[in-house]
Amino acid sequence: MSSYNYIIKYIIVGDSGVGKSCLLIQFTDKRFNAGRELTIGVEFGTRFISVDDKQIKLQIWDTAGQESFRSITQSYYRGAAGALLVYDISRRESFEHISTWLADVRRHANPHTTIVLVGNKSDLDESKRQVTSEEAERFAKENGIALFLETSAKSASNVEEVFVKTAENVYEKIK
Ligand code: GDP
Ligand code: MG
Repeated sequence: MSSYNYIIKYIIVGDSGVGKSCLLIQFTDKRFNAGRELTIGVEFGTRFISVDDKQIKLQIWDTAGQESFRSITQSYYRGAAGALLVYDISRRESFEHISTWLADVRRHANPHTTIVLVGNKSDLDESKRQVTSEEAERFAKENGIALFLETSAKSASNVEEVFVKTAENVYEKIK
């Protein structure tokens, strides 16, 4: 497909290892890579979707969570219509760092950027869970985050939803 009505840019941020690259690959290629391919700096993927009969080209920037890349990452916030803040539901620390990622987004992105909270690895056994969905939901509400979803890049649960619902939210603002 080569023609489209809109191009929407997203940025995916969050601690290293939460599954950002796997979410992107699951969304663009519909596969899960269990191996570890450490993201260096910034990579990106694209996919076409339709919202309200409009063709939308999503251009998704996947960033490295390492501290040393934070300054590089910051320049990619500019022009992002959607920002996905990802944590790992089995690693509490990654949820606690969301407020730092949120502050980065608020500082560097456009004030109209649609911010989405994503709790990844929902396929893991409940005994591994360190963050309840109620707590994350409350955090999202209290911080004016448009949408919260738990996903699994492994099983593909809610992956399509998170990217498409973000686009719908962005589309409502730009149409
Ligand atoms: P990133 O550093 O945030 O880009 O994280 P990666 O996408 O590289 O994933 C880090 C590790 O978590 C890899 O070993 C993945 O296989 C694993 N992983 C990613 N997403 C999921 C998921 O939804 N469920 C499970 N069980 N493991 C995942
Ligand atoms: Mg990565």
